[in-house]
Amino acid sequence: MVQKRTVAVVNCGSSSVKLDVFFLPSEDNPLSVLVERVGKPDARLVLKRASAGGEPEHREDRAVEALDPATAVSLVLDAVAAAGFAPDAVGHRVVHGGERFTESVLVDDGVVAAIEACVPLAPLHNPANLAGLAVARARLPNVPHVAVFDTAFHQTLAPEAYLYAVPRALHEQHGVRRYGFHGTSHGYVAERAARFFGRDPSTLNLITLHLGNGCSACAISRGRSIDTSMGMTPLEGLVMGTRCGDLDAAVALRLARERGVDEAERVLNKESGLLGVSRTSQDMRDLERAAAAGDVDADLAIRIFTRRAAKVVGGYAVLLGEVDAVIFTGGIGENSARVRREVCAGLRVLGALLDERRNASDLTGERDLAGSDSRVRILVIPTDEERAIAGETARLARI
Ligand code: ADP
Repeated sequence: MVQKRTVAVVNCGSSSVKLDVFFLPSEDNPLSVLVERVGKPDARLVLKRASAGGEPEHREDRAVEALDPATAVSLVLDAVAAAGFAPDAVGHRVVHGGERFTESVLVDDGVVAAIEACVPLAPLHNPANLAGLAVARARLPNVPHVAVFDTAFHQTLAPEAYLYAVPRALHEQHGVRRYGFHGTSHGYVAERAARFFGRDPSTLNLITLHLGNGCSACAISRGRSIDTSMGMTPLEGLVMGTRCGDLDAAVALRLARERGVDEAERVLNKESGLLGVSRTSQDMRDLERAAAAGDVDADLAIRIFTRRAAKVVGGYAVLLGEVDAVIFTGGIGENSARVRREVCAGLRVLGALLDERRNASDLTGERDLAGSDSRVRILVIPTDEERAIAGETARLARI
């Protein structure tokens, strides 16, 4: 019998810290601990335990004092130990690996220094990721720690895909280029899709659409990312919950001139996207409900969202030459029949024909929604970044 190993996956952000415990090789997820509202006076710790069959067994929800991510990670690790779990390895989600990290790595002091060097590229994310690494390494010094980067999957992009048409010195001196994000998710759903077809990833051309609060698309040629819609930061590309996505750079300059740089950054990151256009919500469920009830602004926000996504998929089809499947994932991609219908309506030109009945049905899990006469398959593959990180961690830690 294969020995059961325990992997903890830490996702340490600036406002929330999450830790998932996985058993491998079964991939069961018996414990999940979240500290929300980190840095706020009303921070809470939510713990969920599940049985071997995945049934919820126990839930705890209590106020905690967590004024910074490091304290929150400490609280989460206390809860894991109190629940009786002892990880054999720890996987850490790290948002930005710059040009240095082309794949996941075992963490040592040199790796930590290199992640620190990427802080200017992700000033909101990498410091929290580093805090998580520091606390977890200090608390669990005798187990391997693995860093899994959101950017690594896209390090296969060619210069013509990652360079912006700006002076080359900006790349050389300031690291200005496309990095791309959501790499763990794009890589994971592409691999699941290959398994779904019973084929090797190196034989497939795929377009993946990760549509959640953050949204990005990726063109994957024979297992390698050749283009992706997020750029130097996660602000570029598709319309998102509160981020604008693609925009004339002059809009940002003008906003910065008139309202100051911080305010410009806030407006484009936090007040734009679905929220900005609809004026009411960043949440696709709310918008669909409102649109169905006649709210024209909600309806317009959804149409701008789906049009942009279709446009990007069309562009990627040209880059790939041939497309085997378009894959929807993320909260919206997995659940919104309207979004899938509107994105796919424009893809008939590629020979991608959606089976409307299957699309609108309440099927769940991995599924093919293409009609039998479609030349391109249209898949829904639920993403699971934590599970993917657990797998990567076990592989690198050789446990
Ligand atoms: P995150 O990027 O924070 O992980 P998710 O992937 O969970 O977010 O996606 C959140 C988005 O998914 C929200 O806009 C939410 O409204 C949308 N969503 C979730 N369920 C549905 C549904 N049944 N129909 C439409 N949209 C949904």
